[in-house]
Amino acid sequence: MSRVTKVEPFVLTLVRDEPYLGVLRKGEDKNEKGYFVRKGNNTVYLDRDRTVLVRVETESGAVGWGETYGLAAPRATTEIISDLLSDFVIGREAADAAAIHSDLYDLMRVRGYFGGFYLDALAAVDIALWDAAGREAGKSVAELLGGRCRNTLPAYVSGLPKPTLDERVELAKGWQEKGFNSFKIAGTVADDGNVKEVAALRSALGPDALIACDMHWAYDPDGAIAEIKAMEAHDLWFAEAPIEPEDIKGLARVAQSVETPIGAGEEWRTLYEAQLRFDVNGLQIFQPEMGHIGISEFVRITEVAHSQGISILPHATIGVGIFLAASLQTSLTLEGLIGHEFQHSIFNRVPGLVTDGLSCFEGAYHVAGAPGIGIEPTEKLISLLEPA
Ligand code: MG
Repeated sequence: MSRVTKVEPFVLTLVRDEPYLGVLRKGEDKNEKGYFVRKGNNTVYLDRDRTVLVRVETESGAVGWGETYGLAAPRATTEIISDLLSDFVIGREAADAAAIHSDLYDLMRVRGYFGGFYLDALAAVDIALWDAAGREAGKSVAELLGGRCRNTLPAYVSGLPKPTLDERVELAKGWQEKGFNSFKIAGTVADDGNVKEVAALRSALGPDALIACDMHWAYDPDGAIAEIKAMEAHDLWFAEAPIEPEDIKGLARVAQSVETPIGAGEEWRTLYEAQLRFDVNGLQIFQPEMGHIGISEFVRITEVAHSQGISILPHATIGVGIFLAASLQTSLTLEGLIGHEFQHSIFNRVPGLVTDGLSCFEGAYHVAGAPGIGIEPTEKLISLLEPA
């Protein structure tokens, strides 16, 4: 084991022909920086993919990579890392990642930095430290965490980014032919309404397909209950993020008023946030996002979720593969896991940016057992990095 000598954040931007979740709808105009707001959930998106990467190096020469969200204002996160966190990580041992995460959280907790960009920065550093620790030990992150309890992870197809319902149904049928039989629609771009969308998919995919709806926090509790009950007529797998994230009592009321399991959690950064929702029976399926929480906190929260009878179905989003690899490595070790999101429109979107080691086919992720998180950026990716 050896001490960390360098912690460096970077921004990576990748152009794309069509924005995440598909073409812009009427009234969704992008500004000069490429930002636009989806009408379905009043949330800002970007016309490109953008992510924040962190590279750590130890005195033995081991290198670890981490990643977090970079969609909006990525230099807020890189500044937190380069100005503040890096000096408190240098000199520590990568293998102490969980303790370092706690110590870094302590630095700003009484100032109210419990989430957002601060915790994103911690997540990226944490993933990089675990990766470096694994490479020093010659072990995968899954081995460092105690070993695999499964070798593959059931994957569900997330989002059907096509402009019309007919095309979305065709896209889903194409994935079904490739061996996937679980799906989630994005309510924000379900132009004909969630109920019609779920009904069309049910009729095309048959009774055995699992069909979920991401409601993108767009309803009040009464509206969410009515919408979920209407979708239940077409056998809904789960309803994700039905109401505004702050309304904890409302979430509990929704969860206890419908037959369908409620999924939530992609935006929470800590166990403190999650526990408040767990304790009021606000959800049956927890959807942690590795890019927001890092490996150390991911393990802490999912252990508590499992102990409270909540299933674990990790979230996946726009990234270059580093936080996804960390999420898959960690997921291999978790009890209570029922699958993992598969963002087919992002997964390996630009080939050759990370080394081989992750694949998703016939309804499952397959994860190699290489050291650390199992993949790393290629020279091609490194040449595209913008220093923070
Ligand atoms: Mg979601």
